[in-house]
Amino acid sequence: ILIPFAGLVLAFWFYSAREDFKPEMLKGKRVIVTGASSGIGEQMAYHLAQMGSHLLITARTEAKLQKVVARCLELGAASARHVSGSMEDTAFAEHVVKEAEELLGGLDMLILNHIGSSYFHYFNGDVGHVRKLLETNFLSYVAMTVSALPMLKESGGSIVVVSSMAGKVGFPFTVPYSATKFALDGFFSSLRQEFALQNTNISITLCILGFINTDSAMKAAADVVLIPPAPKEECALEIIKGGALRQREVYYTYATIKFSLLLRDWAADLLDYLIRREYNLENLEKK
Ligand code: NDP
Repeated sequence: ILIPFAGLVLAFWFYSAREDFKPEMLKGKRVIVTGASSGIGEQMAYHLAQMGSHLLITARTEAKLQKVVARCLELGAASARHVSGSMEDTAFAEHVVKEAEELLGGLDMLILNHIGSSYFHYFNGDVGHVRKLLETNFLSYVAMTVSALPMLKESGGSIVVVSSMAGKVGFPFTVPYSATKFALDGFFSSLRQEFALQNTNISITLCILGFINTDSAMKAAADVVLIPPAPKEECALEIIKGGALRQREVYYTYATIKFSLLLRDWAADLLDYLIRREYNLENLEKK
């Protein structure tokens, strides 16, 4: 009887001791958002602008970045700038961090969110594509983290890594993408342990997202995935909240993801079966 009771008391203490999120937490903070020309990254830039952050955003498409910067300034960003280039090249990833040092004079939050384009279909055996996607979706995250460490140590800052359910559980039709997302979990969860051992005051938040209604995700999968997508605006806010509160992981949407992860650990075959039922294979064949 005592053990469950102690568990309940501990859980109650843990939740009541948790700090609440306040938008002021981001006021004046210096933040990099990658992949911010569209989708969830763009929405994160708008939320942060409304909270009064200094923003440095990046992606490849200059024209789109200019529009996002203009909107951020309208929304109240303390400052907003952009750097354009491709994260396929780790030198560009390092360059973005250097720009933050020069333009912002330091860094409080590094939000790693971009992804290179991939296909939504059965694995086609193209090893070169897997390698290229690892460069963009994984190695550039590592390179930016390494370059940003001195600034983040100085500020006691945060690294926010946007991942996916496909980085925790096996999903069909996203084999190369899934590999890059699992790699992020391995790298950042291991690095978090080393930070704890070395008393490095940098938080790492891994964000596990389900299907979100961004244009690119809808175009790739809306007619095949039977699960309804969640809104990108709310998703972006939950990621920022999790980063600001220095949470270990963010789950969006919470109940679905937590339940799936519970099933993964206790009934993996059942979860695999349930996942396979969530696809319209006739529509996949038409693609
Ligand atoms: P989008 O496709 O909408 O945005 C991707 C961003 O990355 C764009 O700004 C794009 O801009 C940029 N990008 C693409 N290629 C490169 C490149 N080579 N170098 C630099 N930047 C690049 O993606 P979402 O908003 O849908 O996804 C954002 C994050 O959320 C990703 O990490 C994704 O894995 C995760 N996620 C999304 C889900 C969803 O259903 N939407 C589900 C689970 C996770 P540009 O083309 O101008 O370079």
